[in-house]
Amino acid sequence: PPDVTELGRSSWTFLHAMTAKYPEKPNLNQQGEMKDFLNIFSKVYPCHWCAMDFAKYIENHSPKVESRDELGQWMCEAHNHVNAKLGKPKFDCNFWKQRWKDGWE
Ligand code: FAD
Repeated sequence: PPDVTELGRSSWTFLHAMTAKYPEKPNLNQQGEMKDFLNIFSKVYPCHWCAMDFAKYIENHSPKVESRDELGQWMCEAHNHVNAKLGKPKFDCNFWKQRWKDGWE
């Protein structure tokens, strides 16, 4: 089975890529689906303590689903929360789009 590190790297790739393709101006249905997805994701993520912590993070920091830019910032901050917990450097969230959507120059 994938270990927690490999699972995490793949999962962040998925989450940030999903965010990069989220509509710039999502309708209410799309906003609701993204909220539902993140709630369910935080329950089925196959690393129990990671999932518990992510669920708690979502409870205290409600996902910002009103636009792609807001969701991108939210996801970056959620990832930074885990980075901090693991003693990894903080990522500058001004660069999430270059990293996950447009590519570095
Ligand atoms: P990752 O953290 O996987 O990041 C991959 C790439 O994303 C980086 O190389 C960088 O280019 C980019 N990046 C880094 N930070 C950001 C950011 N803030 N915003 C946008 N892009 C960024 N591991 C544990 O040991 N314990 C846990 O409790 C735990 N909880 C997790 C919870 C979730 C929801 C997820 C998805 C993962 C969790 N992980 C946990 C795994 C952990 O976050 C890392 O994925 C893993 O340690 C591999 O780290 P990495 O250094 O390869 O880079």
